[in-house]
Amino acid sequence: MNAPDESVVHGSKASPKDLPALDKLLRDCAPLVAEHGHTLVAKEARALLDGLRTRAVAGALPRSEVDALPQTLETHVQARMQPAMRAVLNLTGTVIHTNLGRSLLADAALAQVLALMGSPNNLEFDLQAGARGDRDDLIEGLLCELTGAEAATVVNNNAAAVLLGIAALARGKEAIVSRGELVEIGGAFRMPDVMSAAGATLVEVGTTNRTHPRDYEQALTPHTGLIVKVHTSNYQVQGFTSSVDEATLAPIARKAGVPLMTDLGSGALVDLSKYGLPAEPLPQSMLAAGCDVVTFSGDKLLGGPQAGLIVGSKAAVGRIRKFPMKRALRLSKLPFAALEATLRLYLRPERLLQDLPTLRLLTRPQDQIAELAQRLLPEVAKAVAPRFTVETVALQSQIGSGSLPIERLPSAGLALTAVDGRGRTLEALSTALRGLPRPIIGRINEDRLLLDLRCLEEPALLTSQLGLLKEALA
Ligand SMILES: *Cc1c(COP(=O)(O)O)cnc(C)c1O
Repeated sequence: MNAPDESVVHGSKASPKDLPALDKLLRDCAPLVAEHGHTLVAKEARALLDGLRTRAVAGALPRSEVDALPQTLETHVQARMQPAMRAVLNLTGTVIHTNLGRSLLADAALAQVLALMGSPNNLEFDLQAGARGDRDDLIEGLLCELTGAEAATVVNNNAAAVLLGIAALARGKEAIVSRGELVEIGGAFRMPDVMSAAGATLVEVGTTNRTHPRDYEQALTPHTGLIVKVHTSNYQVQGFTSSVDEATLAPIARKAGVPLMTDLGSGALVDLSKYGLPAEPLPQSMLAAGCDVVTFSGDKLLGGPQAGLIVGSKAAVGRIRKFPMKRALRLSKLPFAALEATLRLYLRPERLLQDLPTLRLLTRPQDQIAELAQRLLPEVAKAVAPRFTVETVALQSQIGSGSLPIERLPSAGLALTAVDGRGRTLEALSTALRGLPRPIIGRINEDRLLLDLRCLEEPALLTSQLGLLKEALA
């Protein structure tokens, strides 16, 4: 291909007959075809030529675009091979952000995924007996050790754990839930719908703000299969309230011969108040309080992959494991490997703060974040000038994912303001940030774009893109 002659390029329009035939274009792009194969390159080339032909017929195709065809084709092919799922910078201030993939995996979990997923492994093979095994055997002992449970199993996520628990223990029977705990988690996971999907009849007791032990007692019938407690993770009822805790409910359930299940949502395996964070109920305390089944997420405060953890008594977990739906909800080998490695980190709690990114980010001290903001300020200011001004600000991060909904973590970051003061300009900035190779996701608050730096552990990921940002804003 010859370099386009600049003097001819401008203003000169191509006609359809200036376009190369498909075969000719593919021959010109032989190295691209060698790398990606004929199928993909030909498909993209055809689409590209069709588009150009339409514009050429209309007399609206600059000749320069015809000359640039090989490069354009290469760009298109590369774009098709670019995964739609990409790494981004979470500067939203919400640490466990459901839309941004929740918890980041610890190095140990990443290493385990990398080491095992390209190789056969003993997922369901008993190496000692040389016979078929159960994937639960790889993880049950560890989960029991960490939570004090008699038995444990894992499924695809906590929503699956709740659905399976209710189905296995209360299908065709009644399940009692307090009206104050009929939660919607988001994504259409609403407790009443989950009950009916699981084939259980929901029996609501108490009121939105107050439920008493006698409400549960009066609702018990020979048809009762289960009492369910749900941690109200994404909202709080304040004021004149009362609910019945697991320790009070457990003897009521036991006397009636009915299992008690509690859905903790996030569920932390260590006491977060030790790290200066707001306390979350622990599965181990729920089991000690007498719950038969406790369910919680793998990728919220636990800091692992998406998974649903089910711990409890041998009898209840045994029924859950044997229930046919379990097979459809089982945890895949990929998160399984990451989950096991994450759980092992809890065997050495002294190192958790270093080892677990979620905990590390949640406990990052405000002064350290503020110092980072101060350090980045001049470079960021230069990149967004003259249309935007930047200042450092104190911010409030959130834990996220419905964990501890009203608690805030003192944080810091950068606030970007449009000089001409119009909201559209701020939207354009936000779009430019999202358009970077490693998209930067902040949040717009009133007339400022806020970048909370709590989750920016590698500042170079931001600073290395500032040149591109400046170009995008020019
Ligand atoms: C988050 C949450 C769930 C769902 O857990 P996933 O792991 O996202 O499926 C269920 N119950 C409660 C109370 C939750 O907070």
